[in-house]
Amino acid sequence: MTFNITKVREDFPILKREVNGKPLVYLDNGASAQKPQAVIDAVTQAYSSEYANVHRGLHYLSNLATDKYESVRSKVAKFLNSSVEDSIVFNSGTTEGINLIAYAWAMPRLQAGDEIVLSIMEHHANIIPWHFLRERMGIKLVWVDVDANGDLDPERMIAAMTESTKLVAITHLSNVLGTVVDVKTITKAAHDLGAVVLVDGSQAAVHMPIDVEDIDCDFYAITGHKLYGPSGSGAIYIKPERMAEMRPFMGGGDMIRDVGREVITYNDAPMKFEAGTPAIVQQIGLGVALDYMMDIGMENIASHEKALRDYARERLDGLNWLNIQGKSLGKAAIFSFTLNGPAHAHDISTVLDKKGIAVRAGHHCAQPLMEHLGVSSTCRASFAMYNTKGEVDKLVDGLEFCQELFG
Ligand code: PLP
Repeated sequence: MTFNITKVREDFPILKREVNGKPLVYLDNGASAQKPQAVIDAVTQAYSSEYANVHRGLHYLSNLATDKYESVRSKVAKFLNSSVEDSIVFNSGTTEGINLIAYAWAMPRLQAGDEIVLSIMEHHANIIPWHFLRERMGIKLVWVDVDANGDLDPERMIAAMTESTKLVAITHLSNVLGTVVDVKTITKAAHDLGAVVLVDGSQAAVHMPIDVEDIDCDFYAITGHKLYGPSGSGAIYIKPERMAEMRPFMGGGDMIRDVGREVITYNDAPMKFEAGTPAIVQQIGLGVALDYMMDIGMENIASHEKALRDYARERLDGLNWLNIQGKSLGKAAIFSFTLNGPAHAHDISTVLDKKGIAVRAGHHCAQPLMEHLGVSSTCRASFAMYNTKGEVDKLVDGLEFCQELFG
């Protein structure tokens, strides 16, 4: 299929609306992406004519909902290129996925003095669960810096690993800098030392094809709302050997087989890790979002976004009063910046908003990175498959207006 930007934009109804009297320019995709009509329709249909709880019912609607819900597992497996459908555990997104690994895999296995290696550019979702282990168990966190361009040389990660390293927790793509990390090389080195690797794929999975079997990572977390799917949907890939080592985390319905007064037997994995009524409709919507992306083709999406990135880089580099954080050549179309002068990132985002341009301002849940960069906050414009070069121009016009106002 060829990539047709006009058709793609038509698929997203929200892009037709105005904000503050101006056509919406949505550049906050790193926080959450908009939804195509196919996902909105699937959610509406699931609630209006196909809704029931899953797994426990014997009636028609329950079976229908269960079939639809469970069919998403193979779609996620295909999307991540896992040949094992049961390697996919559903959850509410990356935050829950990483916490699952912290509680169900790491806590029972790690001991005081063991080390977790992570990069300075991790999102808090891939930091706080490991801080829990530091606080509660005496685990040591080993931080690896990025270079001046925001690149992470795999050799730096490898140099930080020791025989005490039990886990490497690494983002595949930085939500602030846009840096893409060579997670395959890092995984190989960690495995050679007997450590396991968790990859935070929240940002990467929406911008590029993912192949967990090629990376050979142990865990790969994704989040549905950034993948054009509903909020509350998500999944984590868990290598079967690792899943076999994990103890259940949340207890409740669905994750058990038999419960007595003194005994309990668990359901098979992956259900063993999915306690309680899940986000049924949201997961069904996620399946449709993944189909939508796979129909367009991840390579096509990636090459459209690469062209956008190159154009945005060229235009933004021309603004000599703009400080761009993250200059990695192979980065994704994510641009974090500050303006020379007194303007705060919040001021810039407020002014841009008046022009219908949505960007994010703040620490982007990456405070260790902000400290490393020596800034308290930045503005971030993050692009998606439906953005255009014309929108890059509008962003540049908006920034020039900010510079005149505050500079
Ligand atoms: N990791 C990265 C790199 C992210 O950008 C985000 C969200 O911004 C997360 C993790 C957390 O995702 P969620 O809030 O959907 O769990």
